[in-house]
This record gives sequence, structure tokens and C-alpha cells, in this order.
Amino acid sequence: MTAQDYINLEEQLGARIYHPLDVVLARGEGIWVWDVDGNKYLDFLSAYSAVSQGHCHPRIYQTMVEQAKTLTLTSRAFRNNQTGLLYKELLEICGKDMVLLMNSGAEGVDTAIKTARKWGYVKKGIPDNKAEIIVCLGNFHGRTTTCISCSPEPQYREHFGPLTPGFVFVPYGDADALAKAITPNTAAFLVEPIQGEGGIGVPPKGYFTKVNAICRANNVLLVMDEIQTGLGRTGKMFAYQHDAEVNPDILILGKALSGGFYPVSAVVANQDILGLFRPGDHGSTFGANPLACAVARTALKVIVEEKLVQRSDELGRYFLEKLLSIKSKHVKEIRGRGLFIGVELQPAARGARRFCEALRNEGMLCKETHEHVIRLAPPLVITKEELDWAFVRIKKVLETME
Ligand SMILES: *Cc1c(COP(=O)(O)O)cnc(C)c1O
Repeated sequence: MTAQDYINLEEQLGARIYHPLDVVLARGEGIWVWDVDGNKYLDFLSAYSAVSQGHCHPRIYQTMVEQAKTLTLTSRAFRNNQTGLLYKELLEICGKDMVLLMNSGAEGVDTAIKTARKWGYVKKGIPDNKAEIIVCLGNFHGRTTTCISCSPEPQYREHFGPLTPGFVFVPYGDADALAKAITPNTAAFLVEPIQGEGGIGVPPKGYFTKVNAICRANNVLLVMDEIQTGLGRTGKMFAYQHDAEVNPDILILGKALSGGFYPVSAVVANQDILGLFRPGDHGSTFGANPLACAVARTALKVIVEEKLVQRSDELGRYFLEKLLSIKSKHVKEIRGRGLFIGVELQPAARGARRFCEALRNEGMLCKETHEHVIRLAPPLVITKEELDWAFVRIKKVLETME
């Protein structure tokens, strides 16, 4: 079969919910992927940060195979010898004392919303069915019916209503707007520390310090969606740590939590919040299964033992500085933290997609986000030399594209 045959199958038989670059991948190793014709590319998307540890990381692979031979799924009707160990190891990293595991990121967000609402009714005394959750313009929290209800993006919502009520919108990066939007019925503020899908939107310095104080003063839960930014991507273990004195009540994790091998998401909080769930309140057949937990345990060990957080910090600074030296009429702004960088193009540049296609022809896979932004987020195992290799190509494309 040719690459075109695979593309035709996808186009004819699958619902077309994505507009992928037409590259048909067959193999991955570390930062590299190969297409069905044997062409090699540097993966600068890392599956939206899910493969921060690199493709087919040998240690995670080993765990996956061994656990797959041993025990994969018990359901939560019974216990197993992996789940509790992941709880313990994950909570040490998060500095919290309770966790609830799900599968996809969107399920994690849904679960966090249920958690915040329950807390609002039981602990804060909000009248039943009146809880409000404040969310930001330009956010992305996933694609379930409730997740799209907390997004103002018309395309995410159109023809999918009626939507879940109870969300209030404020501009991102504006702490005063948050303070004004809070009512006695506000249960939580749900926010990304950097808006990933929104175009690598980095908020003003100190925003979350103020947000944290506002949430404390008003008895509102601060819920951080760290699904894409968490676990080292931005040069800190969690991106909220870029501001001082921020202590979110609820953390939502996913993506790199399993190094790209298996969907695992987590809602992390303290006992006074997650302890409100009773048996039967919530559940998932695959959630917290032993294969997921074994894989996530090793994926976390890789992040810590290979010092991927420090790598992201050091290499991210190095790379951002180099990128800022590029002189291109197309570039409006280059911004980011760690190895989570957005190149925002001028409106006149006619969209980021043609730049991503040009980069593909140079051997680099990137994906545009929100029309005008090229996201640069390679696996965190990348080396300085490999970033230099990529830099030459990015510079060439940005400077020579007409
Ligand atoms: C990817 C993402 C999600 C959704 O995760 P899925 O695993 O695709 O459901 C939610 N929030 C943020 C910030 C994300 O980047």
C-alpha cells in the first residue's frame, strides 16, 4: 500500500474530525518518526505533549510489555497491585493527598467539574443546581459535551447544544475580571496555566499569584488544567509554579502522564475535596487499571530520573533565545516557557499551515494551532545539537517563505 492508499482509507472511512498533515507515520523512536516511505522527521509536536518522554521510550515499553503479559484490567470491582503505588508516587510529585484516575484528559476535566460542584454544594453551601464555574476566553479543556460547554469557541459548540449550563466567561490573564465575576454561587475557577490550544498564550507575570489570592479570599476552588503544560513541558514540573505563592486546589493531568503509551488522566486534590466522593458517585471501567498504572509509574520515573523538567527549562531558554534572533517579516511574536513555544505569525502571512507544510518538507513535523501560531513542543529528551538542527530549518522557512 502507498501513503496515498492509507490517506484514502482514512478520508473515506473515518469521520473527518481532524485536518492532519498528509504524512503517514509507521515508526517512532525518541524524537524521530518515520513515514511509510522511510522518510525521517523530527517530531516537534510530541502528540500535544503526550510523548514528552520520546516515542517508544524503552523503559516505558518494557513496563508496558511486562504488565500486558501479567494483568491488564480488573475493573474497580476488585483491587490490584499497581493502582495504589501510582497513587503514592504521583501524589509525592504533586504535593497533595488524594487522586482520582480516569483515562482521557477530557474525562479528567469532566471529573474535576463534578468534584468542584459537589464541593460547592456540600462544603460551601451553594443552593442545589446553582453552582457556577468561571472559565477563560480562549481556553481548551477537551471535547465532551460538558468540556465544550466551558469553551466559547463557536466551532467547538455549534450544533452540539443544548450545552451544560453553569459556566461564566472571563478574559484570560485579567485577575480583576475574575474578581468581578465571582458570586456567592461560584464554586471554582477552571484555568490553564498557559493556554495551549489557544495559541501558547502566556499570561502576564504574577497573574496566578493574584488569582490564587482572589480564590482564597472568596472561598473559590482554583482548578488548574495542566493536561498539556504539566509534568515538565514548560520547564517546571507544573506550569503554575512559574508564579509565586500559587497553590491550586485541584490539578488535572493527562497526556505525558503515560508517555504516549496509553490514555491515563488524573484529578489530584486534597482529602477535604476528593474525599467527598462516595462509592457509586463516579466511575470508569478502564480508569486506574493495572496496565495504565504500571505505564504511568514508569512514565513518571522517566520524567524525574532523566531530569526532563530541568532539560525543558535549560533547552527551552536556549532555543527561545535563538528563535528570537530570527528576522522574518512573517513573525508577529515568539513566546513560550520551557520547550513549549509558539511562533505567532502576522495575519498577512496567510496562516501557519503552509509554514508547517514547508517545515515537513525540511524534515520537521509541526502543527498549526488557531490559524496563525506554529507550536514548537518537541519531546523533552531532545538534545541541544538536535535543536540546532531544527533551528536552521525553522529559520530558513521563516526567512525565505514568500
Ligand atoms: C489535550 C487537552 C485536554 C483534553 O485531553 P484529551 O486527552 O484529548 O481528552 C484538556 N485540556 C487541555 C489543556 C489539553 O491540552
